[in-house]
Amino acid sequence: MSSPVSEDDQPHHTPVRVIRNPGEMRTYRRELLLAGESVGFVPTMGALHAGHISLIREALEENRHVFVSIYVNPTQFAPNEDLSTYPRTWEVDMEIINTLDEQAALERSGSSEYRGRISAVFAPTTDVMYPNLPPISHPDAHGSFVTISPLSSVLEGASRPTFFRGVATVCMKLFNIITPDRVYLGQKDIQQTVVIRRMVEDFHLGIDVKIVPTVREPDGLAMSSRNVYLGSRRRRVATALYDALTTGAEVYECRDLTREAILREAEDHLYAVCAEQHRLPPSQRALFEIDYISLANRATLRELEFVRVERGAILSGAIKMLPLEEPAADEDCGVGGGTSAVRIIDNIVLEPEEGSAGEDEDE
Ligand code: AMP
Repeated sequence: MSSPVSEDDQPHHTPVRVIRNPGEMRTYRRELLLAGESVGFVPTMGALHAGHISLIREALEENRHVFVSIYVNPTQFAPNEDLSTYPRTWEVDMEIINTLDEQAALERSGSSEYRGRISAVFAPTTDVMYPNLPPISHPDAHGSFVTISPLSSVLEGASRPTFFRGVATVCMKLFNIITPDRVYLGQKDIQQTVVIRRMVEDFHLGIDVKIVPTVREPDGLAMSSRNVYLGSRRRRVATALYDALTTGAEVYECRDLTREAILREAEDHLYAVCAEQHRLPPSQRALFEIDYISLANRATLRELEFVRVERGAILSGAIKMLPLEEPAADEDCGVGGGTSAVRIIDNIVLEPEEGSAGEDEDE
């Protein structure tokens, strides 16, 4: 048994190293490779919350070294999106990362599930990430891009045509620089996990893609860096999407496997909340538009008429919380004052029945 340690004897925590340039990152990575040490990677755009923390914790459990990137990638923001106002909280993010690393160090010294340490935060500038041409998200922009089709053009991609091109491109850059053994992605952005898995496979990147369950607020809303834009009124109504998906998933649990039945429940719920909001006066309501509710194959994202229990499916959706019409004087309208629409996405995986296979087969 280890002897009790007084506060003075506690090993001093060295702040997590911040690397801004790919050359330095590569040199470090090569040392770890030669030492035979495993590397897990968690790509983020910062504004860290419990969802990101859960990814980092999982990576710490499975790897000796964990790298976290913090980079707000311009090519995944359409010109009308929130690139300039996207939350940037560097100091708080670094505090979170240092605390996590400190905890991991303490737990490593006792018996713990944490095996690794956060060995560096990779936080490059855009000049470094896009060394030749400016990062433009227009469909016809010049530049070196990674396109994964047709996975990138359905669902989120239908409303955000160059989004996954931006995501795949920045992930390819980060994966090439860091060459991790494992990468950790959140189920919250399920289409992103499907696109990146496909990219890793098609380009023979040899990285194990790990998917971590969605972390939610107590009322079910999936955590997201963008939730700060909602404000309290829209925040309350935004749970409608998860509630709708949950009612659809219950239909599947009861083994009604038809698209018609599963989507009808989910859509009915959304329409009911929508109608309820429309009945309220503009000073009290939070209106939203439904972008899509989808029931799709887990590997191909093709829409399904019928779920095969041996394969399961993805039930996903997106709604757009509209700007507040009449904010009250003392109302918490969220970052930006409630003037911009906020997109909410979510999903539930309808799990296949135990012991069955065939997820990758076409349907
Ligand atoms: P972002 O910083 O939004 O680009 O997200 C970085 C990573 O965190 C992505 O793999 C996301 O899917 C993941 N992530 C974001 N929100 C959550 C959440 N609520 N639960 C789990 N993972 C999440």
